[in-house]
Amino acid sequence: MSDLLSEGFIRIANAKRVVVKIGTSTLTYANGKLNLRRIESLVRVLSDIKNSGKEVLLVTSGAIGVGAAHLGLTERPRDMGGKQAAAAVGQCELMYIYDKHFSEYGHVTAQVLLTRDVIDDKNRKNNVINTIQRLLEYGAVPIVNENDTVSFEEIEFGDNDSLSAVVAVLSGADALIILTDIDGVYTADPRTNPDAKFIPLVEKIDDDLRKAASGAGSSRGTGGMITKLHAAEIASAQGISTVILNGSDPSRLYDLFEGKPVGTLII
Ligand code: GLU
Repeated sequence: MSDLLSEGFIRIANAKRVVVKIGTSTLTYANGKLNLRRIESLVRVLSDIKNSGKEVLLVTSGAIGVGAAHLGLTERPRDMGGKQAAAAVGQCELMYIYDKHFSEYGHVTAQVLLTRDVIDDKNRKNNVINTIQRLLEYGAVPIVNENDTVSFEEIEFGDNDSLSAVVAVLSGADALIILTDIDGVYTADPRTNPDAKFIPLVEKIDDDLRKAASGAGSSRGTGGMITKLHAAEIASAQGISTVILNGSDPSRLYDLFEGKPVGTLII
């Protein structure tokens, strides 16, 4: 392992404040229903990581997908009104389940819903920063999503990968961990190209890498790898390293915080 890689992972292990982002395809089954085993495991691991002395912020997707499934819709709505209505339903269900599990481990959750216009306005942005800061001082776990029910920008163009990077910057986090449904960044899409090679360390996001990462994400999520690289760029501009990690087994987060090289580190 190169020095840069091992030093980078040691810095992640020593991070005090971490933002963990989980996407719809990791949180739900193909039918849109919540993957309860995974959520339970994620919350247990995050609770334990918090017990170890770290501050944890969770950025969660899933409101639209979970809401659609809860409403009994056979597919995710495509129109704006449908997405916004599904998000209103799904956000409740998400918070209910997170709060239930974090409470079991003695942790307090806080719902933070953001829209881009809030972040673009200096005063409103400062309010968000102060609120997040205060929640962390109180020992709560801020659980952040886009306020999809009122935000057309998110639904049209946005993605929670970028949101997670913005949250990492606003909260002054030391690390951003993006959980997804593949092991990290590859030289091509490993689901369609058997020659795709895993990239453990990214020092520079260039056009070749962007090209390799382009292509759709899963049908349930919005992003794909390209939005994750974009998020890593936002974070790294503020000196925050990002790890893109397979979220199918949340206990990999333990490996990460023990300094083991899991996933792709972007410095
Ligand atoms: N905010 C959206 C949701 O909760 C997800 C956006 C994304 O997956 O990037 O459904």
